[in-house]
Amino acid sequence: MFDVAVIGGGVIGGAVARELVKYQLNVCILEKQADVAMGQSRANSGIVHAGFDAVSGSLKAKFNVLGNQMMEDLSKELGVKFKRNGSLVVAFSQEEMNTLSVLKERGEKNGVSGLTIINRERLVELEPNISKNAVGALLAPTGGIICPYKLTIALIGNAMDNGATLYTDFDVAKIQKDGENFILLDKTERKVNAKIIINCAGIYSQEIANLAGDYSFTVGGRKGEYILLDRECQGFVNSTLFFTPTEKGKGILVSPTVDGNIILGPTAQVVDDKDVTTTVGGLNMVKEKAGEMCENIAWDKTITSFAGTRAFCDRHDFVIEESKAVKGLINCAGIESPGLTSAPAIGKFVVEELVSKHFDLRANENFNGKREADDFFKELNTEQKNELIKKEPSYGRIICRCERITEGEIVRAVTTNPRATNVDAVKRRTRAGMGRCQGGFCQIYVAEIISRELGLSLESVTKSGGESYILRGKTK
Ligand SMILES: Cc1cc2nc3c(=O)[nH]c(=O)nc-3n(C[C@H](O)[C@H](O)[C@H](O)COP(=O)(O)OP(=O)(O)OC[C@H]3O[C@@H](n4cnc5c(N)ncnc54)[C@H](O)[C@@H]3O)c2cc1C
Repeated sequence: MFDVAVIGGGVIGGAVARELVKYQLNVCILEKQADVAMGQSRANSGIVHAGFDAVSGSLKAKFNVLGNQMMEDLSKELGVKFKRNGSLVVAFSQEEMNTLSVLKERGEKNGVSGLTIINRERLVELEPNISKNAVGALLAPTGGIICPYKLTIALIGNAMDNGATLYTDFDVAKIQKDGENFILLDKTERKVNAKIIINCAGIYSQEIANLAGDYSFTVGGRKGEYILLDRECQGFVNSTLFFTPTEKGKGILVSPTVDGNIILGPTAQVVDDKDVTTTVGGLNMVKEKAGEMCENIAWDKTITSFAGTRAFCDRHDFVIEESKAVKGLINCAGIESPGLTSAPAIGKFVVEELVSKHFDLRANENFNGKREADDFFKELNTEQKNELIKKEPSYGRIICRCERITEGEIVRAVTTNPRATNVDAVKRRTRAGMGRCQGGFCQIYVAEIISRELGLSLESVTKSGGESYILRGKTK
């Protein structure tokens, strides 16, 4: 019997689980996919928002500003790269300049520091590639960038290092009550018992609440499509560039990623089936809009496109509360943007304010919040690298030529919590396959390492779990 079962291995489930293991609690995380960070937390803009967007007094505003403040220390502890590159909301008319004053006022009310309105001259100094039509901007120096799936992997890995159990391929399909406790069953009738459950199922958080008997909110999907440019374009923009919001929404952004690529998007399209496919129409819209924000975008340096689906809730705010209908069910539902930014603050609030009502929380004296960076090898100097290669020669063998990722780094990804068991899971942890050739050369070598390290046949190694087999069988 677990004390707490967290449903969903996204950034919210991860942040909650890591807070839980700071106490003497027996915790599990149930994730329906083959790896963690496969939902919204895989495909988003990776912006740590400053906090001027959300309506003052909302949970979004509160957790955004707190989460932003916590991100610096958290990312250091977990060895995840985070950069305060600053955000600019760009105005293209006097009317939009007036809107910037409203945003500034709202941001200050929400507790955002350092907000300044700048003129075109200063804007061009900061962003030489800004459109000729831009007239000024709101500068938010506390805005930042982070890799969303690396943060999620690190949160869940650290929770596991501190005792949490992760069940992947566990698609919660039934929730039953056994007295005060819960029985969670997946589609194959695998069973987990828990005293309380925390619903962190992202765009599926309504389904989980409904399975438990709570019908108090709905969650729909709103798709966003992106284009990613090669790291050769590093420096094209320095800050995260937003359009001035209108009634239709925030529009697309142009931003560096923390790993040095340029990200452009997302669109916003309501979808019924929570689909995450890219479309010609969507990507053309990204190109058209981004072209209005910046001059000279190097579209020939596009390396990939992708889409993510936001969980938008009929309450127009995050749902973070114990269910009134089902005692022991805590919902973290409808967590759309700024959910990534808010995750550290949501995790703390859920445990300290909601879980604490069910348990006498006693500190876990053995808790260690530190985690070695997944990309620690890249940060070593030549001497340190040579030293390590002498001890562990696999760090001297390059597998991914585009990103220069070694066998040692891949072995580490496959053997460290939460273990990468497929090719894309290795890619998210190490960047092997994320460069120009997008895995064309290294995919099969990565599959061989997974097969060897996990004792699986090469044919059974998948691209991203499920039926996504790479090899069908031997030809000779
Ligand atoms: C296009 C887009 C752009 C965004 N940009 C930003 C941004 O720049 N900054 C920001 O702060 N926020 C941003 N967000 C919001 C942010 O990504 C989300 O708020 C955050 O990732 C939500 O995390 P989550 O853990 O709630 O959901 P998810 O990451 O979706 O995790 C839910 C998990 O639950 C699992 N699951 C679902 N059903 C079941 C089941 N039955 N059994 C077991 N597991 C299940 C899923 O597989 C998934 O892994 C963006 C979102 C999108 C989609």
